[in-house]
Amino acid sequence: MGAPEPFTQTLDVGHWIQGRRHLGGGARTQTVWNPATGQAARQVHLAEVADVQAAVASAVAAQAEWGDTPPIRRARVLNQFLALLNRHRDTLAAMITAEHGKVFTDAQGEVTRGIDIVEFACGIPQLLKGDYSDQASTGIDNWTLRQPLGVVAGITPFNFPCMVPCWMFPVALACGNAFILKPSERDPSASILMAELLKEAGLPDGVFNVVQGDKVAVEALLTHPDVKAVSFVGSTPIAQFIYETGARHGKRVQALGGAKNHMVVMPDADLDQAVDALIGSAYGSAGERCMAISVAVLVGDVGDRIMPRLAERAKALKIKGGMALDAEMGPIVTREARDRIEACIGQGVEEGAQLVVDGRGLRVAGLENGFFTGGTLFDHVTPSMRIYREEIFGPVLACVRVPDFAAALQLVNEHEFGNGVALFTRDGGVAREFSRRVQVGMVGVNVPIPVPMAWQGFGGWKRSLFGDMNAYGEEGVRFYTRQKSVMQRWPDSIGKGAEFIMPTAR
Ligand code: NAD
Repeated sequence: MGAPEPFTQTLDVGHWIQGRRHLGGGARTQTVWNPATGQAARQVHLAEVADVQAAVASAVAAQAEWGDTPPIRRARVLNQFLALLNRHRDTLAAMITAEHGKVFTDAQGEVTRGIDIVEFACGIPQLLKGDYSDQASTGIDNWTLRQPLGVVAGITPFNFPCMVPCWMFPVALACGNAFILKPSERDPSASILMAELLKEAGLPDGVFNVVQGDKVAVEALLTHPDVKAVSFVGSTPIAQFIYETGARHGKRVQALGGAKNHMVVMPDADLDQAVDALIGSAYGSAGERCMAISVAVLVGDVGDRIMPRLAERAKALKIKGGMALDAEMGPIVTREARDRIEACIGQGVEEGAQLVVDGRGLRVAGLENGFFTGGTLFDHVTPSMRIYREEIFGPVLACVRVPDFAAALQLVNEHEFGNGVALFTRDGGVAREFSRRVQVGMVGVNVPIPVPMAWQGFGGWKRSLFGDMNAYGEEGVRFYTRQKSVMQRWPDSIGKGAEFIMPTAR
C-alpha cells in the first residue's frame, strides 16, 4: 500500500442541518488538535440551544415522509451510502487519524466495522416484518408491526468518531426515524463527511442532521419534547446523567458507559498467544478503546512466566505519528488526556504497584510537541488501588496475580464495570464455566477484544450500560421502533349486540 493522504483541511467544522453545512448562530468555538504534532488544526463551532431547535425542527418536518417511505426504498438509500463509504474509507480513516491520533490502519479497521453495521441496516426490512395470528378468534385476525419512533438522537465519544455513530444512525434511519448526531467535539470532521455521503446517497434533507457541541447541545436534545429516544456512548458518569435526564423527560434511552476489561490468563494458556493478545489489546489505539484490555489477571505461575515477555514487548512498541504505516501506537487525543493518564501512573506508583515499564515523558523524534506517552506496565496491582478500580483510558496495563480460577472469576465479577472480558485457556470446561458465570456483557475465549458482529448487538453489564437494550443488531431495531398490535374483523363476522364481557377467543 502506498502512503495514505493525510487530512490537512483547516476549514472550521460546523453543523449539518437540512442537508447543508451550517456554522450556527452562536459564537462559541473549540480548537480541534492534531495530536501527533500538538498543533491546533481547525475550530469546531459549538451549538447553542437555537441551533439544536433548528436541527430538531428540520428532522421533525422530514421524518413524516421518511417514516412513510417503504422500508425497501429506505434500505436502497443505505445501500448507496454503503457504496460511498467503501469508496471514501481511506479519506475517513485519514480524518480519524488526524483528529483522534490512532494509527491509520486501525482507523481503517474502525471504518470497516462501521461499514458492517450499514450492511446489516440494508437488510432491516426483514426485521420490520410483523407477526400475524390468523383467526385469533372466529373472524378476527391479530398482527403486530413495528413503527419508527420519530426523531431520535445519538451522542457519541471521541474514540470512535465513525464506528460508534454507525452503531446508531444506519439502524435508526433504516427503521424510518430521523436522526440527530451530536459527535465528540474533539474529532468532529468525520460526522460531516458521513452527512455529505448520506445526502449523495439520496437521503432527503433533514432526515440526518449533525449538531456539534458540548453540554449545551446535549441538554437541549435531552429536554426537547420532539426527541423521542437518545442513544449515548461515552464515560460512565455522563452515561448515567444522560439516562436519568432522558428518562425524566419521557425518552427511551440506551447509554453505554466506561469499562475496565480484564483478561484472565490460565496456566494452560498458549503464552505466545496470550502475550500477543495482551500487547495488542492493551496498547492498540493507545488504550483508548472501551474494549481495550486494561487488567491482566495472571493465574498461578503465569505471572512469573509472562511478565518478562510483556515488559520486553511494551518497551519495543513502535510509537509514531499515526500516518506512518508501521506505527503500532499513536499519540493520545489531547494534551489534557495525556497528562491525566500520566498522573494516574504516578498515583499507581504512590499506591505501591510495581512499575515495570514507565511510558511517561516519551518524546517522538520530529513530533516533539505531540501528545505522546509510551506503553506502561504495572505488576502486583491490587483491587484496592485506584489504577485497578478506575478507567484510565490510556496505554496502561495493570497486572493482578491471583492463585486460581475461582479467585480470577470473583475479581472480574466484583468490578463495577462489566463491558468486555477475555479468558485465555486450552480447557473447554473452564471456558464454558467462565462464559456462563462471568458478570460481563461481552466475553472472549482466546479472543481479547470480543466486539460482537453487526447482527449480534453490543452492550456491557453493570455500570457499563444504562438502559435495557444493546446497540445495533436486532436490539437496535427494537430500540428504534415501537410495536403496534392491530386486531381486525369485517362486518360479515361481527355478531349482533353490545358485548360487556372481556373478549375471549370463540
Ligand atoms: P465523554 O463521556 O467525555 O463524552 C461522550 C459524549 O458526551 C461527547 O459527545 C461529549 O461531548 C458529551 N459530554 C461530555 N461531557 C458532558 C456533560 N457534562 N454533559 C453532557 N454531555 C457531555 O467520553 P469520551 O471521553 O468522549 O469517550 C471515552 C469514554 O467513552 C470512555 O469512558 C469509554 O470507555 C467510553 N466508551 C464506551 C463505549 C461502550 O460501548 N461502552 C464505547 C466507546 C467509548
